[in-house]
Amino acid sequence: MGVNSQTIASSIIDPTDWVEYAARKHPHRSFLRTPAGRQLSYEALHEQSARLASALMRRGVACGDRVAARVEKSPEAVLLYVACLRMGAVFVPINVASSPNEVDYLLRDSSPRIAIVPPGERAVLAALADRAGIQCVETLGADGEGSLSELTRLCDPERKSMGPHDAGSPAAIVYTSGTTGQSKGAILTRANLASNATVLAEAWRFTGQDVLMHTLPLFHIHGLFAAINTVLASASSILLLPKFELHSALKHMSEVTVFMGVPTHYTRLLQDRGLNREATAHMRLFVSGSAPLLIETHQEFLRRTGHVILERYGMTETLINASNPYDGPRVPGSVGPPLPGIAVRVTNRDSGAVEHKSDVIGTLEIAGPNVFAGYWRDAEKTSAEFTADGWFKTGDLARIDRNGYLHIAGRVKDLVISGGCNVYPREVESELDALPGVAESAVFGAPHPDFGEGVTAVIVPEAGAVLLEAQIIESLSARLARYKVPKRVLLVAELPRNAMGKVQKSALRATYACLYRAS
Ligand code: AMP
Repeated sequence: MGVNSQTIASSIIDPTDWVEYAARKHPHRSFLRTPAGRQLSYEALHEQSARLASALMRRGVACGDRVAARVEKSPEAVLLYVACLRMGAVFVPINVASSPNEVDYLLRDSSPRIAIVPPGERAVLAALADRAGIQCVETLGADGEGSLSELTRLCDPERKSMGPHDAGSPAAIVYTSGTTGQSKGAILTRANLASNATVLAEAWRFTGQDVLMHTLPLFHIHGLFAAINTVLASASSILLLPKFELHSALKHMSEVTVFMGVPTHYTRLLQDRGLNREATAHMRLFVSGSAPLLIETHQEFLRRTGHVILERYGMTETLINASNPYDGPRVPGSVGPPLPGIAVRVTNRDSGAVEHKSDVIGTLEIAGPNVFAGYWRDAEKTSAEFTADGWFKTGDLARIDRNGYLHIAGRVKDLVISGGCNVYPREVESELDALPGVAESAVFGAPHPDFGEGVTAVIVPEAGAVLLEAQIIESLSARLARYKVPKRVLLVAELPRNAMGKVQKSALRATYACLYRAS
């Protein structure tokens, strides 16, 4: 259990209050619209989410029950999330791209009262749901069709059971990306969601005038909570796009004021000449997170648009922890200081002792009202991820500089230990990325007969660049201590990434597992 979550929970407003408040104060203000012409005012959000809640209740869903949603990104999916929030059901988003095996695991593990799936997948998924002991399966399509929508049309809006709810009760279970082993369900409470959105709306200066371009998926905390909840908490508005697509993002940029993206969105935007000062003239804020933003991307974006990207740092278990300031220096390569009310500390990776000196890399730990309530049905894993004094071990390596800004050095499990020396991949990647002709890079450890692990790099060359392994190694030798210089540098067309744009280092380790095998 996070240190402050219980004490702060009682003083936080509940997420349902956002909807109630905005519907009362700004009934005609747009909550969401799509380029296809779908519009939802705050009044409509209030009414339609209550109707949907009523339909869920008719299907036996009660406060505290889990609702598994494998639904295409759409206004319907957003309404379903808001309906769950308002009635106190626990939203369990499932990636529409997950395989039947993964769905099987997620359904069994979360054991929801109801599973909601796309109309075209009913036959396949109903069989899985049946095997997982789920009695109720309904369909919901991106176009608003499906059995749940039909039922919703017959229902009156639910008025009772829409709160108040206990701040400490679960609002969602979000499965971690599970790059190693089985993914785990992180239980996020209503207080977690409420506190984080309130802090973000304030930190990023959201007002009712803002329109957020939403291109992120809805099964991850970035698109679901950092984006939607921050809009709800500030009664601002969303332009909902089905996904990030370069031309559509540029085309609609003049209709919005804020963009939230992952670093790959920014590198793709930079590939288009249409990204310039005019195209972004009335934008107020560009936010990046979920993976490290290259310093080069940050600088190039500023040069092309005049906008300084605001980088922030978060994770499924804690929502957003740190953010570069709205006013004040946004430092490239840093994720900024912790957000108000959130405490961070760096501890020694081996001894666990708290590092009091600045700029020492160690394991990052977090405490605050944003920290999740634990892993679903896994008390052992939960207690393993918290320290004895209640701090959550993020699994990230970081340093805090003398101005209190956090610098993420990568995942603990991605640390390379070569010949007994620690090599932080991020440091080597920064040097590689700064070399002419290198578009991006990833550094990881591959088993090595002499060194235990050999520092290994893959790089993606810029279009038309001719790069030679020996030259790259030589250039790095002038910049880095010898043990940090990659033993091999391999050229690749692209880096393996997941849906959130995170480089999958475990995939690289698997691909190059035999690179240094003694021949
Ligand atoms: P997830 O739980 O899928 O959101 O992944 C969270 C992880 O993404 C964090 O623990 C970090 O390793 C990484 N991450 C998120 N934001 C950033 C960032 N701005 N810079 C570097 N790593 C980040």
